[in-house]
Amino acid sequence: MGESKLDAGLFIVSTPIGNLRDITFRAADTLRDADLIACEDTRMTKRLLSALGIDGPLTAYHEHNAAKMRPRLIERMQRGDAVALVSDAGTPLISDPGYKLVRACHDADIAVTVLPGPSAVMAGLVLSGLPTDRFQFCGFPPSRRGARRAMLEGVAGVAATLVFFESARRLPACLADMADILGDREAAIARELTKLHEEVRRGTLGVLARGYEDGPPKGEVVIVVAPPGERTVDFDVDEWLRGALGDMSVRDAASAVAIEAGVSRRDAYRRALVIAQEIAGAPDDSSPSGSRS
Ligand code: SAM
Repeated sequence: MGESKLDAGLFIVSTPIGNLRDITFRAADTLRDADLIACEDTRMTKRLLSALGIDGPLTAYHEHNAAKMRPRLIERMQRGDAVALVSDAGTPLISDPGYKLVRACHDADIAVTVLPGPSAVMAGLVLSGLPTDRFQFCGFPPSRRGARRAMLEGVAGVAATLVFFESARRLPACLADMADILGDREAAIARELTKLHEEVRRGTLGVLARGYEDGPPKGEVVIVVAPPGERTVDFDVDEWLRGALGDMSVRDAASAVAIEAGVSRRDAYRRALVIAQEIAGAPDDSSPSGSRS
């Protein structure tokens, strides 16, 4: 017990959300030196550790066993062990387990420290092009429609950019409710952040919702929504068309954007044709560099 180079206590360790090279030196050192690594899914964390050449002792700590495991982890730290807490990806405690463990450590006078690193909240927010001076993280909207709509009504008046997690499968229904309840604000869908198919799609909530009417995208998504009552980003009809053309025919994209932007359908159609040709001829340069998981 307590034989590692680390002092006793809890180390909250952020891990990559896709690109393995986003691990920090300090995170790798701490995972190597910890007496125990508490993780959500041992198979997921083993994959990360083996990529780093680390063979640390793992124990599962997730929502189903947390109440049973918490006292055991506390006891080990009281006996001198350094325990690293990780989640499957990103920063632990952010829509992931750990909050009650941190509280229990504070209550027991056990040292707690954090190793900051990747989180989909920050990555999505800073890529969105929406105001970053004030934002509210809203977590996952409820999956049931009634509860989701009630939650959205609860945040509709918040004077800040809103950041949501959502499953790709529920994205179309969620965007439709957002357009209905939050109004036709500007928004961004940040998908597959730091991975091969990283993409940011921007537009009004209405246009974005229509873009997914034919089916959800693949992968992981963050939804970022502008504060109420401001046209914060001066993006033009061309950008709306570019977003809509990702999922719609030229004719449908032009119709949707003409209504949203208040321009004639004929003008929108002419621009859509030009942009569709540009897209068809553009080289594929969308991949961020570095290795991926
Ligand atoms: N604690 C993690 C963090 O700090 O990023 C978040 C965990 S939460 C259970 C998982 C959600 O985060 C996903 O459903 C998605 O909304 C978002 N997410 C995680 N990785 C992502 C990625 N690479 N691209 C986009 N969204 C991601």
